[in-house]
Amino acid sequence: MKNGPAKIYGVLGNPIGHSLSPVMHNAAFKAEGVNGRYVAFESSDLKGSIVGMRALGICGMSVTIPFKTAVIPHLDRLDPLAEEIGAVNTILNRDGRLTGYNTDGLGAMKALEAVMDLMGKRCLMVGAGGAARGIGFMARERGMTLLVANRSKDRGRELAAFLKSPFIPLEEIADLKADVLIQTTPVGMFPHQNASPVPDFVLQEGMVVLDAIYNALETLLLKTAQARGCLTIGGLEMFIHQGAEQFRLWTGLNPPLDIMRNAVSSALSKQQGAS
Ligand code: NAP
Repeated sequence: MKNGPAKIYGVLGNPIGHSLSPVMHNAAFKAEGVNGRYVAFESSDLKGSIVGMRALGICGMSVTIPFKTAVIPHLDRLDPLAEEIGAVNTILNRDGRLTGYNTDGLGAMKALEAVMDLMGKRCLMVGAGGAARGIGFMARERGMTLLVANRSKDRGRELAAFLKSPFIPLEEIADLKADVLIQTTPVGMFPHQNASPVPDFVLQEGMVVLDAIYNALETLLLKTAQARGCLTIGGLEMFIHQGAEQFRLWTGLNPPLDIMRNAVSSALSKQQGAS
């Protein structure tokens, strides 16, 4: 892995211009002496992109919006977790056979596990989209008790049923008690950092609050949670950990977390400073 011709990796999505994955993975490759290059591929032709991945021998691909589900029929195999969740964020090309994995939910769990033990904890998850599906599945796997809150009731109920957990409409969460709150909606993303999807009084002292948003280093939710005595984790940690698991799958090496974190933080600060 460390010698021989450069291996090519990339991220496939649309749009992809502001992706932080290239800076994160290229920093990791460099730090570990991996002769790899990671490139952003913006494409509106999913099928052609996967044919190209095979033809060119691209060794691994991150998959992002809008292809996480649509890519599945184009792969040869799915890891059981990706199959269960119904979404792929990582492709590994092993001798021409493409296998799909999902590291998003694991990324969130690793970020939480760095600060707490998850077994038996009560978790309120806000949102019922693609990110929530993977995160919720892994939270259940880790032995957490889950409550799903969402704005649209149909979507919320559907995800709650999939996760074998209760659903609660977003406007009814004010009196809930939970050990952990995981925020998975886009509310509060840059440049709208002054919006939060949850009322302040849900945030109780001692609660752990993870906001999946990573393109604002500190969302209003995280600022408020911190002021109310919660332990906060930004989406950057989840992003780093999902990328770290991709690095592990592609290279078989332990990911250099600090290097990846520093690379992404400084790129993000530059991006936001320039906007
Ligand atoms: P998605 O599939 O579009 O789902 C969006 C969810 O947010 C839905 O449940 C939607 O509710 C809810 N929502 C949207 N606007 C809302 C509003 N104004 N008020 C209340 N709820 C609202 O999106 P996704 O792919 O899950 O991504 C969600 C967020 O997670 C994004 O910010 C993304 O960047 C982040 N993310 C982070 C990582 C990471 O590594 N840190 C990984 C993946 C995703 P309805 O059902 O009512 O529409």
